Amino acid sequence: MSRTITVIWQCKCAIQKTWTNLLKAEMDNKSTLKYINVNVLSIGTPHTLWKSLRSMVSEVKMGITKARMLTGTFMTQATRYKFKIENADHICQLCAIYSEDIKHILLECPALHSVRKLYYSRLKLEVIHVIGEKKWLELFGNHESILLLILDCSNFSGNFNTEQITVITKISTELCHH
Ligand SMILES: [Zn+2]
Repeated sequence: MSRTITVIWQCKCAIQKTWTNLLKAEMDNKSTLKYINVNVLSIGTPHTLWKSLRSMVSEVKMGITKARMLTGTFMTQATRYKFKIENADHICQLCAIYSEDIKHILLECPALHSVRKLYYSRLKLEVIHVIGEKKWLELFGNHESILLLILDCSNFSGNFNTEQITVITKISTELCHH
């Protein structure tokens, strides 16, 4: 009996490994998935994003927003414009100045500045608490790396342990949603 269970378990592991490898190979070719850390993905294991949230409606909603941003399926004005949806233009409807993409929404839109600042300060404080100010400047001196941190901090997993990744992910998920 236990031999049967072992064989089934080995079979399940082999299937998950095959699908995980296929998924990673597929993802390497998708520019919209550039923010996800492919190395930590595994079929059958939830992404860190979901592990950091409780099963409450409000937190699941936050998770959905971030998952869309992370997978390139969040509908920005730039995306609407690109795919010619409803005669949209690419300009952000909040500030009406700049083109609206994920980076603009999360880091650059002047209309969202005060809201973002609140969560961004918490995020920065938490990260500096772990890695120090010098390392922060070293790693996060430009918007592209801050965007990587916000969308999937496991991209910098060499600097954080599992518990720290969970805390940072939770704060950045709030930032994405508000
Ligand atoms: Zn804007």
